[in-house]
Amino acid sequence: MSGAGAVARAVAERLAAADVARLNATLAWSEAALAAEAARVDALPDDGVLHQWPVAIKDNIVTTDLPTTCGSRILQGYRSPFNATVVERLRAAGAMVACKTNLDEFAMGSSTEHSAFGRVLHPQDPSRVPGGSSGGSAALVAAGAVAAALGSETGGSVRQPASFCGVVGVKPTYGRVSRYGLVAFGSSLDCVSVFARTVAIAGQLLEVIAGPDSRDATSVAAPKLALQPPGASLAGTTIGIPREYFPADLDPGIQAACNRAMDRMRDLGARLIEVSLPHTSLAVPAYYIVAPAEAAANLARFDGARYGVRAESSGDVRALYRATRGRGFGAEVRRRILVGTYVLSAGYHEAYYGRAQAARRRITGDFSAAFAAGVDLLFTPTTPTTAFRAGEKTADPVAMYLADVFVCPASLAGLPAMSFPIGRSEGLPIGGQLIAPPFAEGVMLAAAARLEAALDPVAEAR
Ligand code: GLN
Repeated sequence: MSGAGAVARAVAERLAAADVARLNATLAWSEAALAAEAARVDALPDDGVLHQWPVAIKDNIVTTDLPTTCGSRILQGYRSPFNATVVERLRAAGAMVACKTNLDEFAMGSSTEHSAFGRVLHPQDPSRVPGGSSGGSAALVAAGAVAAALGSETGGSVRQPASFCGVVGVKPTYGRVSRYGLVAFGSSLDCVSVFARTVAIAGQLLEVIAGPDSRDATSVAAPKLALQPPGASLAGTTIGIPREYFPADLDPGIQAACNRAMDRMRDLGARLIEVSLPHTSLAVPAYYIVAPAEAAANLARFDGARYGVRAESSGDVRALYRATRGRGFGAEVRRRILVGTYVLSAGYHEAYYGRAQAARRRITGDFSAAFAAGVDLLFTPTTPTTAFRAGEKTADPVAMYLADVFVCPASLAGLPAMSFPIGRSEGLPIGGQLIAPPFAEGVMLAAAARLEAALDPVAEAR
């Protein structure tokens, strides 16, 4: 059997194995589709950067060979007539599309409990969530079913599940990677992002998918993503520690793991300085106005006429829309559409959307000021807690939204940011976050790779 064929068979075996299948992390895959991918890859020159690599794809990124549902009934069975640019680039580099992964419906959530096709289980503890919304991709990488996966970030949906599952998750600068073929949620925030077991693999994947695309007017040309070999030390690097990310009531295990990571940074020669990002507390409220506002506009296209499922109704076209959208969207998506429509409505636009935009500018300004003052990278915890229990936050949307407090700010500012494993607390993974200036992914990844080599990611923090 060909090289790629053997890899494809091994992936199919892993996806079908009981310990992986029970996670409910995949929404579509087949042995036939994998075999076709293998045959295609075998016909390519073998010098592709990702030659024969199986990559899982979040199910809000369109593929021609497998359906795209966004975890929603409204798109059940939908098949795109084209591949997303990122999928085309992976395939051209020799990668194989392994499967489509489960997600919170339309990427709205922080636990992957809001999928119309059931929740995803945390690979280490089935009573817990893997984080979200890209929980399926995170769980598959953590379970060792694939070496890497694509997810998407609007407000932390790759970094937060990477942290919960103990893998690497990298969100690029807004515009670094084409959004063509990523189903739109919040267009000014959305970024295709990557998961991998190691920092080096995440960097390779990002390098393949990055770069301008004539089909996405918000993708940017320069400067090119420059991966750097990790240096022997972090000498000459100034790392800012924003005090707003280390509140007195931070989970003690997370605080301890961050302290240990900061000690390693000092050992490696980095200079650590405390900084302040004073508008951090505005990030969650601003995000949960801006993102739903954009989502309400973007989701108008799912009307029963243009895409996917159409609910039978006897009335006029309005009745068709109502029936399709009422039955097709789950509770969280309906909540976002209601909030988004409200904050954009004529009488309330300035009171809510206008103020959220102003807060967004201040948050961006905080970051710019820190970087202008000589900080190369910022270090924070990725999440305020380790993976929480399923059902713990589903009845309280605001508690769920607060799981994003440390990841939302970089999304609002469009900055590159990543999570990587820095230890464990009671056996559960803890992620550390690095945030970099625009287009400084190379610096961020090199520092993370250096730290990855210096830290024991499975050591208990206390
Ligand atoms: N948890 C956030 C939300 O629910 C982020 C989602 C995302 O990044 N796609 O909107």
